[in-house]
Amino acid sequence: MLAVSEVFYSLQGEGEFIGIPSVFLRLGGCNLSCPGFGGRSDYKGIEFLGCDSIYAANPKFSQEWYFYPNAQTLIDKMQSFSDIKFDVILTGGEPSLHFKNPILLEVIEYFLYRGHRVCVESNGSIEFIFNHILRELYFTLSIKLSNSGEVLKKRIKKEAIQNIIDNAKRVVFKFVLNAKMCEDGSAIEEIKALLKDLNLKNNQIYLMPQGVSLEELDKNISKIYLLCLQEGFCLSDRLHIRIWGDKRGV
Ligand code: SF4
Repeated sequence: MLAVSEVFYSLQGEGEFIGIPSVFLRLGGCNLSCPGFGGRSDYKGIEFLGCDSIYAANPKFSQEWYFYPNAQTLIDKMQSFSDIKFDVILTGGEPSLHFKNPILLEVIEYFLYRGHRVCVESNGSIEFIFNHILRELYFTLSIKLSNSGEVLKKRIKKEAIQNIIDNAKRVVFKFVLNAKMCEDGSAIEEIKALLKDLNLKNNQIYLMPQGVSLEELDKNISKIYLLCLQEGFCLSDRLHIRIWGDKRGV
């Protein structure tokens, strides 16, 4: 069985492949909860706090997940959206929790073999063994900083990050920031403290605004772009929020 929160076709909204038509496979479960991101979701009359993907991260929502019994059913679903050569995006929750699942590995291999780019959005805090399939993946490492509300030793595992840098096909970093941590200097301090102990391979660094509304994005991006210019980092927006707002499945 493979726990899947949702499968949908949309435009990649963030990072280096922003704007590219993609099929998103959002896997269920996460090792973090990120209460600092201020996401809220109602489920059976109870309000849960966490990130904007809380319905995929928190196992309390598992009754609304799909448990795929085999790879072909999921492949058929993913192919049903479009005949074009879309990117495949593994997201979550934390996708690497499922990297030993043969159903997921078969799905990844199927799309790789047909020439699709397969990308992963990961928090980079899980250490796993790379096989020949996982070595073909494009990773975006969204390492969580203090604004996630998670404790340092849980959200930053340098050995796990280095393992991904050393073994994946391509790795970029994407840090989610708010205006306050740009203004008080803590954003750059935390990012530099992390990067200085890693053996990087020309990995691009993206800074992205925290937020699930246009107002939040605009407020945060108005400070973040200055850091990009100052430090030579790239700027990422959240295109899906600008187009669809805080809607699920797009
Ligand atoms: S790591 Fe990502 S998916 Fe998991 S709780 Fe944090 S923001 Fe949500």
